[in-house]
Amino acid sequence: MHEASLAQGLLHTATKAVAEYNAKHTAKPVQRIAGLHCELGLISCVELKTLTACFEMLAEGTIAEGARLTVEVAPLACHCRQCGHAFSLKKRLFVCPQCGNENIHFNGGHGLTLMALHVASEDTEHE
Ligand SMILES: [Zn+2]
Repeated sequence: MHEASLAQGLLHTATKAVAEYNAKHTAKPVQRIAGLHCELGLISCVELKTLTACFEMLAEGTIAEGARLTVEVAPLACHCRQCGHAFSLKKRLFVCPQCGNENIHFNGGHGLTLMALHVASEDTEHE
């Protein structure tokens, strides 16, 4: 279960970030994580539905319970080995847009990265 470990990692990162924030802002601590915004690597083999389901299950009983998970595909930085053109891919179409060569070099594109957290403190919860 690749998705379960990714969801676990995501939850861990989010709750840790909130704990660190709360340690510095004891007067106005974050009570709840309302949403998480993530970027998913272009070539990661992740089933989004499974990831969301895993996350919801793991988040139960934590401050991230009920948080909305937003996942966007991160553009993958590439360069063409043929003509040296640098570009970024948003689809799994590994062809140089300049010369049409398929000899493309890239790094990464596998992971899931937490980009932003949407949180609610006690004050804003009543809005
Ligand atoms: Zn090229």
